[in-house]
Amino acid sequence: MSSEASAPGQLLVISAPSGAGKTTLARRFVGVTPGARFSVSATTRPPRGSERDGVDYHFLSPGDFAARVAAGDFAEWAEVHGRSYGTLRATVEEALDAGAVAVFDIDVQGGSQILDRWPAQAVSVLVVPPSPAELERRLRGRSTESDEAVRLRLAAARTEVSRAAARYRYVIVNDRLEEALGRLSAISRTARAVRTGAPDPDQAAIAATCLVERADLSAWGV
Ligand code: ADP
Ligand code: 5GP
Repeated sequence: MSSEASAPGQLLVISAPSGAGKTTLARRFVGVTPGARFSVSATTRPPRGSERDGVDYHFLSPGDFAARVAAGDFAEWAEVHGRSYGTLRATVEEALDAGAVAVFDIDVQGGSQILDRWPAQAVSVLVVPPSPAELERRLRGRSTESDEAVRLRLAAARTEVSRAAARYRYVIVNDRLEEALGRLSAISRTARAVRTGAPDPDQAAIAATCLVERADLSAWGV
């Protein structure tokens, strides 16, 4: 049962080119937002560094992942960089039942499936860095990628931005982190309040500045 009336659950879908700062922003948002939680995805890729099963991802073998696809256990799933990634249906249903804000760090293919399936509850946000040059600087600064991987991610960034521009509702330019966080909070709060009939005008005005039709994405070839 979804507790729509008092605290409507929200599916906050955040997609971004790798290196845009989406993980940093999403962590900050969950840290400061009461009732917000991360959606822990399933993946067939192996854990990296300090990642823990059940916390960062549910790490599944390709066979187990395929079995869960066949059983209809996924709300969405997609192949990203040659591996399978998906959101379990139970994760979405539990969040909606709890009236939580579930934050999804997923790609645009997966985000589109969530939008199709839960149009009333899903809110879609594309996070972009201020420019392709700044994206390259952040990718190199993170020091987790080889030169080749940085080049691949820069090329993939244009594709991810143009796909999201065609489908998503909001764009946040992640220039200064605190400002980007304020915009993400305004989007989430406004989308939730619209459903209960009482959006805060100041928050709604901030959210409106992030509407995709107002964004200049020409630097990304859009
Ligand atoms: P993503 O999850 O989108 O791949 P990360 O959150 O790992 O990106 O961020 C990529 C790098 O950019 C990290 O080193 C992070 O500290 C840095 N970063 C994130 N947001 C900002 C920002 N607003 N300004 C400058 N650097 C940032
Ligand atoms: P990473 O392997 O770096 O953690 O994630 C690689 C990409 O997979 C990122 O773009 C991330 O947003 C995406 N991703 C992570 N989880 C999911 C998921 O459950 N579904 C989909 N569609 N994409 C995901």
